[in-house]
Amino acid sequence: MSPHQLLITNGTLVSRDHAFERGDVLVSGERIASIAPHIQAREGWKAIDAAGKVVAPGFMNIHSHADFHVPIPEHAQLYERLLYQGITTNVGGQCGFCFFPVRGERRKELNDYQGFLLYRDFEPQWADCREYFDLLEGRLQFNYAQLAGHGTLRVNAAGFGERVNQEQMRDMTRMLEESLDAGCFGLSSGLMYMPGTFADTAELVALARTAKRHRNTFYASHLRGYSATFVEAVEEILQVGREAEIPVQVSHLGPFGVKNGHKIAIVIELMEKARREGVDVAYDSLGFCGSDTLAIALFPPSSYSRGLDRFLEDIRGDSFWNEVVRRVQTHVPQWPSWEGNGWTDNFVECCGIENIYVLGSRDPAFVGKSFVSLGEEWGVDPWEALRRVVLAERADFKIFIDGIGGELYGSPRQPSFDAMIEHPLCINSVDEVFDRSGRSWLEAWGSFPHIVRRYVRERKTLELQPVIERFTSRVAERLGIADRGYLREGCFADIVVLDLENYSDHPALFAQEPRHATGVEQLLINGQPVIENGSLNRILPGHVIRNR
Ligand SMILES: [Zn+2]
Repeated sequence: MSPHQLLITNGTLVSRDHAFERGDVLVSGERIASIAPHIQAREGWKAIDAAGKVVAPGFMNIHSHADFHVPIPEHAQLYERLLYQGITTNVGGQCGFCFFPVRGERRKELNDYQGFLLYRDFEPQWADCREYFDLLEGRLQFNYAQLAGHGTLRVNAAGFGERVNQEQMRDMTRMLEESLDAGCFGLSSGLMYMPGTFADTAELVALARTAKRHRNTFYASHLRGYSATFVEAVEEILQVGREAEIPVQVSHLGPFGVKNGHKIAIVIELMEKARREGVDVAYDSLGFCGSDTLAIALFPPSSYSRGLDRFLEDIRGDSFWNEVVRRVQTHVPQWPSWEGNGWTDNFVECCGIENIYVLGSRDPAFVGKSFVSLGEEWGVDPWEALRRVVLAERADFKIFIDGIGGELYGSPRQPSFDAMIEHPLCINSVDEVFDRSGRSWLEAWGSFPHIVRRYVRERKTLELQPVIERFTSRVAERLGIADRGYLREGCFADIVVLDLENYSDHPALFAQEPRHATGVEQLLINGQPVIENGSLNRILPGHVIRNR
């Protein structure tokens, strides 16, 4: 049987290799067979008329936590919201987290470390990266590429121990090599999460050097601090890049808090200087000011290190609670944080309690309210309001922290944030974390169309073509792959057909049911139509993209 043929006609081609040219694209099976100004249709071919539409390579998301969702069938439903943005590939294994290896004796610690990323309880059926990839093949809605997560390797080797000895270091190195041999594209670290916080720079450089010995690898990091120690933390990743001679990617660059917004200019200058000196550095960024996280992240890590139940019991007592509040009000992170108490970013210190809201909770009466306004409603101070909600929700609720990215969400002018997005080193991303109800933040619903709407159409500060390149070939370059991210003969047929005027997000900050992005009319993944005339086909055409 010959492979199916699909002809996309009369589209406006936009990619690294095509600048607004009219052309036809012939897809044969999984690949692009040819691209030409006109291709004569033959009988039996399927046809898509793309007149007046933009035809681009399928979009690639350089920063994802899909690792924790792709093994379960529900991922197909969770990631619909990314498909509607035109995203055909996600790069997981970020911020130090990945879903392998799984050592039996570390199961409990692994779950303590990364369980919050799961959509539901789930028993891993693999021991290492190779087995994990083998299990995914044939079950994926989108293409998936992977980094190895430093924190997960460290928990497997040493649990939550602060120091790793030489044998544990050799053990982590072996696990990393195994993962790279299986097809990972490098290493990530999450230096605000224990035990990543305990790793010193030398440990990161040593592992980055191991990664560097494999081809096409890079090192990405959730920095050690995005507030008081933001500049030092950017210097640290540049040092890793310099010493290990490996490309480095700063994960979700934005500083925490309006008072740190001015630091964007400082760290961009540091990165430009490092590039001139030969360090291949870039950064990815959130699409919106403000971010969501779990409520527990507001508190000093030591206050809940004995478990959540104990924490909830402890904060009922006034003296314990008052001490927690005192530390939240006064703790300013110091550099280097691996020598301190591991508390790298105090959200109240950098963003202010008045900018912290309940985003999602079981009790709908809390949603959309700040702890200041809840306090006014109840006739108590904001801290007592916080304690009441934490106890009522058993600390299991999401908060919205305004000012992440250096500007307020609703502010009409966002100069620092805009400068970060508009800079050529920026690669946009969708850093989605689903909670157990399946809810996600604005990012997951419309980060990419938001960039096009705000910066290409409204502000007119970015051209469409370089933005499409950020969504496609710039990510392919980071991965060192040439068969995706471009409109070229022989490439995999990951293709998006966009109605550019309607390509938009529909943000609704506290809404229970946000709306999908609009404007993606057709979406092919490996030649298969995942979105056809705007509606979704429930198929699983994705591949694991292995670094070879
Ligand atoms: Zn992160």
